[in-house]
Amino acid sequence: MTAASAAPTLGIDLGGTNLRIGVVDAAGAILAEVRDPAPSEVDALVHAIGAQADDLVPAHGVRAVGVGTAGLIDHDGAVRYAPNLPMFVDVPLRALLAERLTPPVVVDNDANAAAWGEHCHGAARGTSHALVITLGTGVGGGVIADGRLFRGAHGFAAEVGHWQFDPHGPDCACGEVGHWEAVASGSALGRLARARAEQGTAPGVLARAGGDAAAVRGEHAGESAAAGEADGIAILGEFAEVVALGFAGLANIVDPELIVVSGGLVELGDVLLDPLRAAFLGHLEGSAHRPPVPIVAAELGDASGMVGAAALARDLTP
Ligand SMILES: [Zn+2]
Repeated sequence: MTAASAAPTLGIDLGGTNLRIGVVDAAGAILAEVRDPAPSEVDALVHAIGAQADDLVPAHGVRAVGVGTAGLIDHDGAVRYAPNLPMFVDVPLRALLAERLTPPVVVDNDANAAAWGEHCHGAARGTSHALVITLGTGVGGGVIADGRLFRGAHGFAAEVGHWQFDPHGPDCACGEVGHWEAVASGSALGRLARARAEQGTAPGVLARAGGDAAAVRGEHAGESAAAGEADGIAILGEFAEVVALGFAGLANIVDPELIVVSGGLVELGDVLLDPLRAAFLGHLEGSAHRPPVPIVAAELGDASGMVGAAALARDLTP
């Protein structure tokens, strides 16, 4: 390994509210990290990243920069469309950052970055074929195929959250109706739990929200299920069923060795994963006649996007 290839890279996770910038070494360890509020304008964003990089790049000998952000990112790192980040419509983000920063820059979808992070340093380490599904405010995905990120013709592959499950289903954040994200995200779990609380069928969940049905969140259902209460278990079971339908559909298409669950909902642990595993087997084609497809929790936690973006940057330079 040359000195250059051992040098760390910068991983940047740009979300709707937070900008996380980490210096990450070749083993995936975070050497330094800064957090800023996410700017809501492109010029301010480039300025904020540039200002942090002016300190971090020389201090750590950073050799490349990777950015993960939501939306449709093309092969040149332009953000074509991002439903949750209105500032991004056909913004050549990689080119803008490359003008400002000294090291080379890559920009990719945040779920792709998280998947690559789990592939390089987390739960999908050592696999050649894996699905990494992010269950958070929305639903994202990354597909590892033949040991590489599957990006598609334009870089837009694996937008799994916007798979239309039910043309009569609830509205999706993207403006369409009935997308998987609209029923399988953390937001959807909260909505389901609130609906059951309002119907009077979730007393344990309601009590955990102080008796206010409007205040019920997904975590309350998770806590109730973890305590063994029937109403929390039923809500998690109902939610896991629709998540598992998507997992099985995707597994039937890409035949992964394993499925890694990342995003905020993974903090629910086996209270979510156990019913998910059971429901998944019920929908996977010929599940009794194929090797098991483990469903496991991500290992990098909420750092997967940042560490993964840094790992993508590592591929830019020899
Ligand atoms: Zn959608």
